[in-house]
Amino acid sequence: MTSEVGVLLRDLPPVHRLLHSKEAQSWLQEHSRTDVLLSLQSAVDTLRASILAGERPEVTDEATLAMARTYLHRRTGQNLRPVINATGTVLHTNLGRAPLAKQAIAALVEVAQGYSNLEYRLEEGVRGHRYEHVEALICELTGAEAALVVNNNAAAVFLVLTELAKEQKVVISRGELVEIGGSFRVSEVMRASGAELVEVGTTNKTHVRDYADALEAGAKLVLRVHTSNFRIIGFTSRPELSDLTTLAHEHGAALIEDLGSGSLIDLRERGIGDEPTVRESILAGVDVVTFSGDKLLGGAQAGIICGKAQWITRIRQNQLARAVRVDKLTLAALEATLRLYIDKGYAMAHVPVLRMLTRAPEELQEEADRVAHDLAAIVAGQAQVRVVPTMSQVGGGALPSEQLPSYAVAVSPHVCSVSALMEQLRLRERPIVARVVKEEVLLDVRTIFPEEFVMLVQGITEALAQAAQTNG
Ligand SMILES: *Cc1c(COP(=O)(O)O)cnc(C)c1O
Repeated sequence: MTSEVGVLLRDLPPVHRLLHSKEAQSWLQEHSRTDVLLSLQSAVDTLRASILAGERPEVTDEATLAMARTYLHRRTGQNLRPVINATGTVLHTNLGRAPLAKQAIAALVEVAQGYSNLEYRLEEGVRGHRYEHVEALICELTGAEAALVVNNNAAAVFLVLTELAKEQKVVISRGELVEIGGSFRVSEVMRASGAELVEVGTTNKTHVRDYADALEAGAKLVLRVHTSNFRIIGFTSRPELSDLTTLAHEHGAALIEDLGSGSLIDLRERGIGDEPTVRESILAGVDVVTFSGDKLLGGAQAGIICGKAQWITRIRQNQLARAVRVDKLTLAALEATLRLYIDKGYAMAHVPVLRMLTRAPEELQEEADRVAHDLAAIVAGQAQVRVVPTMSQVGGGALPSEQLPSYAVAVSPHVCSVSALMEQLRLRERPIVARVVKEEVLLDVRTIFPEEFVMLVQGITEALAQAAQTNG
């Protein structure tokens, strides 16, 4: 060890002295002593390692405290935290799918703060059931006789099949044996639930006759799956839902439908996609329908199961229902979201997913213009900023072929690479997730909340400066 290294090591501030500094003491008002101590220790350790590696770091108290402050923020900051979604994909599964309506957030915060009547009937003063809070609402909105809610739609499908399909022959069209994502494959979920698969038809065409043959051979259940995340285009056909339910019932069989997204509002009326509503399925005579709470519905993550009372009662009693049960926060948010749907216009105005999906291109262009104007005024020398037309996606495995015309702010940096800018945008305290199209960073305004615009402009400005610095 050279004497110079020895001197530097000796000058390293001791942790107890740093801890008693005014700065570190102020940290103790918001952070635990353990977090503060460990952050100070990490800073000293890092400096020591750097000295031993032959570097000459600044070892003053101020420099060490500055380093410890960064460590403290990193240690104590939430890992799961809000991001600005500038991808334009409304139901982005990686970014948490549906943002909740204000009413849903208020309801879940209230329930989270204290006790609630989760499983308690206030009028009678006796034990109740958690499903009771939303069952009547779901029935009113879908026309179903009964309903229950579980953790997510994958759990809903598994629970329904486990109760109704176990050791039964279950008919499914080869065109509906889909993989939904996250290795959730309809065929495997069916096998895991103990069902005996009877595959009928072909990938592109399945006829009523194919189902009839299987039912005549003793199948007691028909499973219909909405192929939500892909489309087969061209020479295709599958039976009308009502023809299939009639056929199933004639053979004493039941029909279960996994709708995937399951809309409560007819978005086709607004010129968006071809997503069937849950009510249509119930009207067509489907015995049990399952769908997600956080796809087109725009609520919390949940799986909704509704249909005929005789089946729902059985499903509710299955012991697996306890393993996939819904929690009180989700129920609070879901109930508040469902209440918005009592009035269609109210839902369109208040459910963020519906609002984002139906925003007018002119309004999006105006917003993009405004952001681009504000941004260009600050970063003129460092990047080219313009507004470009783009296409947003619905996402979440819903309406895969639907493209929504939108507008984006396009940023081409002069001072760094596109990937360096993307990285700095992601690494911010309030990360910004964007897309790269043809060597430009595209920020689609469809999925950005108006209250995020100021943060967005500031974020891009700082990310550009940071990226330029990092670039050297
Ligand atoms: C999305 C989807 C599921 C899974 O729903 P989650 O709520 O994500 O668990 C199941 N089936 C279909 C057809 C889907 O589109």
